[in-house]
Amino acid sequence: MPRLNWITALFLVLTPIGALVWGGLHVSAVGIRPAEVLVFLVYYSVTAVSITAGYHRLFAHGAYDCRRFVKVVYLLCGAATFQHSVLTWVSDHRHHHQHIDTDADPYNIRRGFWWAHIGWLMVEQEPADFSNVRDLSADPLIRLQHRFYMPLAIFMSFGVPLGVGLVMGNPWGCLLWGGLIRTVVGHHATFLVNSLAHTLGSKPYSRAVSARDSVVTAVLTFGEGYHNFHHRFATDYRNGVHRDQWDPTKWLIRGMASIGWAWNLYRAPRERIVAARVECETQTLLDACRDRSQHVIAAARERLAAVSASLEATAKRLGAAERARARHAWGAAKRDYAKVGWSELRAARRDFRAARRQWRAELETLRATDLQSA
Ligand SMILES: [Zn+2]
Ligand SMILES: [Zn+2]
Repeated sequence: MPRLNWITALFLVLTPIGALVWGGLHVSAVGIRPAEVLVFLVYYSVTAVSITAGYHRLFAHGAYDCRRFVKVVYLLCGAATFQHSVLTWVSDHRHHHQHIDTDADPYNIRRGFWWAHIGWLMVEQEPADFSNVRDLSADPLIRLQHRFYMPLAIFMSFGVPLGVGLVMGNPWGCLLWGGLIRTVVGHHATFLVNSLAHTLGSKPYSRAVSARDSVVTAVLTFGEGYHNFHHRFATDYRNGVHRDQWDPTKWLIRGMASIGWAWNLYRAPRERIVAARVECETQTLLDACRDRSQHVIAAARERLAAVSASLEATAKRLGAAERARARHAWGAAKRDYAKVGWSELRAARRDFRAARRQWRAELETLRATDLQSA
């Protein structure tokens, strides 16, 4: 039976109760003031992306590089979320990726939704050895944040909103909204990535792990809800890989890249992403017709294999064209590229989309008719 970590457990229980009681009394006395909500929204957004873009995609996965001052903002505002130092957070998270769905995964979803959400934090952990974060502990700023984490967390989480409130002439309202309520909401939004993102949604890229893709989780977590993709391609700076998927963290990183604050944004090669998708859909389809005759299964496999091969070939060509464009994005190289590169990219895109349409249509047909009636 694991021993309770009293301090963390009390903090995680008392902060929501405090937010509800104090928040309820405050709102019933003065109502909801726009300035207080604004303080909440601004500070919530800054601290939340310090976890998603900072702790997670930058520090844990090295999905991009950025200017030093951006890292400093992540270290300061990440501390404001009371989710431990970068070293502790990343060490746990790397164990989660490496040992997903096993006892060595600190927030193993197989131990239940509430364990993954909050329970694992309430019990004593094995002392961390930090052997899986040596790349980060070489950075003096990260070591400094780790060493002074607790005073920094208290100052950033409660001192800053209180200070802003003093300037605005409303210290208690700002402390409540920008400090207490924000901390509680931020906690549970992050915790959802360990619980809901391993429970709700689909598995388009890897059927071997519990992680799932869901727009609901993505909306609640600044884009971290495309978690199946993330577990398959953890070093990609995007979690929502498609253009229309809700991933504000991806847009923020791209925005920083456009003004020179971030660079080396890693994208998994398109052909690997498409191959993962094809593999998953094929397996799902074959599972669906497991009870059919060998003849039906062989026919379905053959029909899907033909369109899948065509899709993967066009994805490979498009991936190469996209990498060529990225290599020739600047200066003279860009002018050289403009002569032939764009037409190749357009053609590759057109062929890929046509192959994808054909693949989807074949999948639909197989799902809707052949497997039912054969
Ligand atoms: Zn996960
Ligand atoms: Zn991750």
